[in-house]
Amino acid sequence: MRIDHLIDGRQVPGRDYFQSLNPATQEVLAEVAAGGEAEVNAAVAAAKAAFPKWAALPAPQRARLVRKLGDLIAAQVPEIARMETDDTGQVIAQTGKQLVPRAADNFYYFAEMCTRVDGHTYPTETHLNYTLFHPVGVCALISPWNVPFMTSTWKVAPCLAFGNTAVLKMSELSPLTAARLGALALEAGIPPGVLNVVHGYGKDAGEPLVRHPDVRAISFTGSTATGNRIVKEAGLKKFSMELGGKSPFVVFEDAALDRALDAAVFMIFSNNGERCTAGSRILVQKSIYAEFAKRFVERATRITVGDPLDEKTLIGPMISQAHLAKVRSYIELGPREGATLLCGGLGAPDLPERVGKGNYVLPTVFGDVDNRMKIAQDEIFGPVACLIPFEDEADAIRIANDIAYGLSSYVWTENIGRAHRVAAAVEAGMCFVNSQNVRDLRQPFGGTKASGTGREGGTWSYEVFLEPKNVAVSL
Ligand code: NAD
Repeated sequence: MRIDHLIDGRQVPGRDYFQSLNPATQEVLAEVAAGGEAEVNAAVAAAKAAFPKWAALPAPQRARLVRKLGDLIAAQVPEIARMETDDTGQVIAQTGKQLVPRAADNFYYFAEMCTRVDGHTYPTETHLNYTLFHPVGVCALISPWNVPFMTSTWKVAPCLAFGNTAVLKMSELSPLTAARLGALALEAGIPPGVLNVVHGYGKDAGEPLVRHPDVRAISFTGSTATGNRIVKEAGLKKFSMELGGKSPFVVFEDAALDRALDAAVFMIFSNNGERCTAGSRILVQKSIYAEFAKRFVERATRITVGDPLDEKTLIGPMISQAHLAKVRSYIELGPREGATLLCGGLGAPDLPERVGKGNYVLPTVFGDVDNRMKIAQDEIFGPVACLIPFEDEADAIRIANDIAYGLSSYVWTENIGRAHRVAAAVEAGMCFVNSQNVRDLRQPFGGTKASGTGREGGTWSYEVFLEPKNVAVSL
């Protein structure tokens, strides 16, 4: 298969191509156009030219087209899920039942919402102030590889529904479904130039895109290192920065232990551990630490690692050999830092023949982790859990916050007062009490500290995709 750029509604061949590999089998899935400044400039010019007409389209008409795009995705869930699983190694049970259906929902949700954008009024004795919300213009939408289709639709849906035009740049490691999204947008009747897709490496295609003076807003999801670089490169623009995490999963002695264990396992091992909101630091009160560790390890060793196309598989391959090497380097580091390897490690999982050459790692659990160790401080972004004992509530809050990141957090306790106290004290954009991560499209999604700035979801998406204007009328 060959994947080209989509610029102004036309397939534009690359001057150069790179290969997208299936991380489970190493087979070449596609030759992908490698974009650079020329393609970015053409895509931004197309988006700029398409903007006035698209922005002026009455919201119900835009909504119809955006909803139609959702319908087209919903009609192709198995095919898109298969494509995403082949491209990323994310297991089919997740892509087919959760991630791709949710992508369709993103379009339905923002189609509805764009017809309901309202404003505020601030009457005074002398003036009537009211707010208008305008689309921003050309937006750069940049996505990572871990759940690329869902993440890109989470950006494309509000961006287009609110009347903006876009240049989407997917990760070079997972370009397949973005190419499909561009084609489906055209099929839905969204005019050429409204959604452009440029493929390529971050340095070659991402950098000229974020620097481009005609790009008014950047919605970026990716690593903290890249986020920092973009903020420096981009100049004065609107930003939404959804960055890395190392989220605390705090279990108090009075927690409903079975449920907490299930959720802890899910939050670190699902999505191959390649999840920004992973509960990767599992803080457990000392009085229950030994029992929790034993039962957590029992569950971790029962996890099926294998073919991502098998419905029973929970952990598929890491996205690339480079990423596998990074995850393995942390597994190797843990014991040297003084952590106890409780299960997993550097051995090879037992794999079906089809995926024998895949980028696999065993689900790994480290016990007796000190929060200052690198395995506890760095985002490993793989199926590696750190169990960290704590004394009491104050100690739990101190450890939870002793980290550069602040994306998500999880608190397990039956004490309602404590649940609210910890939720208020934890430095994170999101806190889930007695729950794994659940997404409601109205929630503000995003992080604080090194996990980013800005929030997306519901009216929070106004922040990046709409420009408020105050009108003051003299009375
Ligand atoms: P990455 O930062 O390496 O790349 C992300 C995207 O940025 C890719 O499309 C890449 O090509 C592009 N890019 C790279 N350099 C660029 C530059 N200089 N200018 C513009 N674009 C550039 O991240 P990744 O490895 O693809 O993804 C994993 C990271 O994403 C993890 O840190 C994870 O936590 C984070 N993530 C965050 C969220 C969230 O919502 N907070 C969600 C998913 C993933």
